[in-house]
Parts: sequence; structure tokens; C-alpha cells
Amino acid sequence: MTVVDPAATRAAVRAGTLSCPQAGCEGTLKAWSKARARQVLMSGGRRVVVHPDRARCRSCKVTQVLLPASCLPRRAYGVEVIGAALTAAASGTGYRCVAISIGVPVSTVRAWIRSVARTGEHLTSTALTVMRTLGANTAPCQISGSTPVHPVRAALQALGTAASALTQSAAAPPRSSPGALSGIDYLALLATSHRQELDRWMRLSDPTEAAATAPPWHQVTMITGGRLLTTTRSD
Ligand SMILES: [Zn+2]
Repeated sequence: MTVVDPAATRAAVRAGTLSCPQAGCEGTLKAWSKARARQVLMSGGRRVVVHPDRARCRSCKVTQVLLPASCLPRRAYGVEVIGAALTAAASGTGYRCVAISIGVPVSTVRAWIRSVARTGEHLTSTALTVMRTLGANTAPCQISGSTPVHPVRAALQALGTAASALTQSAAAPPRSSPGALSGIDYLALLATSHRQELDRWMRLSDPTEAAATAPPWHQVTMITGGRLLTTTRSD
């Protein structure tokens, strides 16, 4: 699972209010032993030790790694470092130059770029699903048939537009007074319900509703469910 705020998610697990993300399961998660600690290189050259929490469903017994949105599963680089490399590649910079500019081995950068080029259509489709659920305009991401498309650029454009839609999706305001629902209240409740479904589809834990104000590349981790560099479910 992707986690926006690890401390808030830990509190939700302790309180028994975090739902299991497995399809069709109505269970809640309980605290479990921590996942393996590892070093991750973040943007600006910061090395941090990430020691993710784990939780286990009381009902289906599946264990979840609660990975912060700044990281991708099994990657030694933060998503902002990987994102900087992909952005440079999308603007036409060769992978060797990209690797030198961000201080990452050439073979690693080449693997990232090839992965997104290979899975670009899937990433674009995921971004479009998120945009539609948020009620955002998907027109900027529709590709016209005759124009040759740079696969990394197309995927990044779609993911960037979906991240903007997430930023604009402010939480539905609470009802101001008890009593009968007005039309606006009803729309707010619908928006809240859609958003909860979307969080579940993205396998996202966001009890403090902080996704809208998270950094864009963290939002890309949320939108792709941590699968920016793979289509395989890995949590
Ligand atoms: Zn479950």
C-alpha cells in the first residue's frame, strides 16, 4: 500500500480504522512486524533509512507493506530522483547525460527509461482512470492518431495531468448543519464516496486527506500504486 502520512497511517492501524485494500475484502488491518530497513537516495543527495511499517488484515490475513509515497517498492532511489531522470529523458536528453546529471549509474537510468517506454500505455491508461474518477478533463492526454509519440513523454504528460487533478480535488467540505441534505451536501457526499473508492483502487492510505497537497512525484506513486517502473503488484 502507498502511504501519504506514515504517522497518521500508523495511528489508523492502531485504532483499527484502516481498511484492507484487497479486492472484495471488508476487513481492517492490524499492526504487524516491520518490513526490512533499507537505504534510499532522495533528491538533493540525501540518504535516508526507510523502515516501512507492515499491517495484516484481520479477515483475509494478507500482509501489506505500508510504503511512503516518496519511495517505490524495491528501489534504492526516491521517486523524485527517478522522476527527474524520466523528465529529462522525455525532453530528449540521452540516458548517459541524464545519468551523469543526477549521479546515478547509466545502467540504472537506462532501465528506468526502458521500463516506462515499455509500460507507457498502461501508465497512461491508469492516469486516465484516475482523471475520470476525479471528474477531470482527459482531453490533454488524448493522443491523435497520426502524430508520432515519444512513449515516455506521453506517459509523463498523462501522469502529470492526473497529479494536477489530484491536487485540485479538495476534500468535500463537512455538512454545516444536521438535518435534510441539500443538493450541494448530496454532491459533497457523492464526491467523498467516489474519493474513498478511488483511494481503495489506488491502494492508498490517506486518513488525513493530505494527497492533494503532496509533491507531484509522490502523487504519481499514489496514482500508479507504486508501479511506476513495473506493472506487477509488488506490495
Ligand atoms: Zn483483507
